[in-house]
Amino acid sequence: MIQSAQFQPGRVFLGRLPAEGDIIAALGEFCLQQGIRAGWISAIGTVRQAEVGYFDHQRGEYLHIEVAQFMEIISCQGNVSLKDGQPFVHLHIVLSDAEGHTIAGHLFDSIIFVGEFYLQEVVGPDLVRKPDPASGLSLWELP
Ligand code: ZN
Repeated sequence: MIQSAQFQPGRVFLGRLPAEGDIIAALGEFCLQQGIRAGWISAIGTVRQAEVGYFDHQRGEYLHIEVAQFMEIISCQGNVSLKDGQPFVHLHIVLSDAEGHTIAGHLFDSIIFVGEFYLQEVVGPDLVRKPDPASGLSLWELP
């Protein structure tokens, strides 16, 4: 059964990601400053390096993949919700190298070269992440 909640569109932000910053940290800080509690995020740009992950459902943990080179951000999208009472940014990313080969995954760390983002805030009930024993992940607990 699908669990969902209804939200209203809030503010829309377009912005530049800070050079040398970390995408997750920068957007998390932005959400905190702006009082954004839920929303959808999309970004493009270039990273100097990144670390992405693949969730190994059998081990119940993320495998980490280091990307130690300049890569284009072909697609980076995800959301913001609340975890432990704070805005929590969850993003997935597709990166491409000089030959157009891609690597993708759950975004952990990054060092931004340049970047542009879109953030659509949504307003409604608290969208909270809680540990989900069945998956081993931290998932939305919908009202
Ligand atoms: Zn993820």
